[in-house]
Amino acid sequence: MLVIRDRIETTSGPADRFSGTVYIDPIATPSEASRISASSVHFAPGARTAWHAHPNGQTIFITEGIARVQRRGGPLEEINTGERVFFEPGEDHWHGATPNRFMTHLSLVEVDDHGNNATWGSHVTDEQYGA
Ligand code: MN
Repeated sequence: MLVIRDRIETTSGPADRFSGTVYIDPIATPSEASRISASSVHFAPGARTAWHAHPNGQTIFITEGIARVQRRGGPLEEINTGERVFFEPGEDHWHGATPNRFMTHLSLVEVDDHGNNATWGSHVTDEQYGA
């Protein structure tokens, strides 16, 4: 058993991958023994990811607020606290807060053979976001 007592260092979501204010707290970091990458991601109102896809899929679990999510070609969907979404491997999508409320979700992914957990595309426009 390893108790990790390091203080978690919150990082900002980089501007080429997110719109608006996003903070990321790491929970589990991949290693040679485990491909699991887990984090708690905090979105300010109106903030969201860019379009992206995960090589091995992704589960998000909403822990605060209401998430707004969309698969490429699909409808805008709102997901409540306590609900989960699974994005299929390679499925293009985005996720974020609603316009008027903070949202936090846990993110669970497995990295690929090169340590990558996502491939990133263009930002979600205000029109796509439904602002
Ligand atoms: Mn995702």
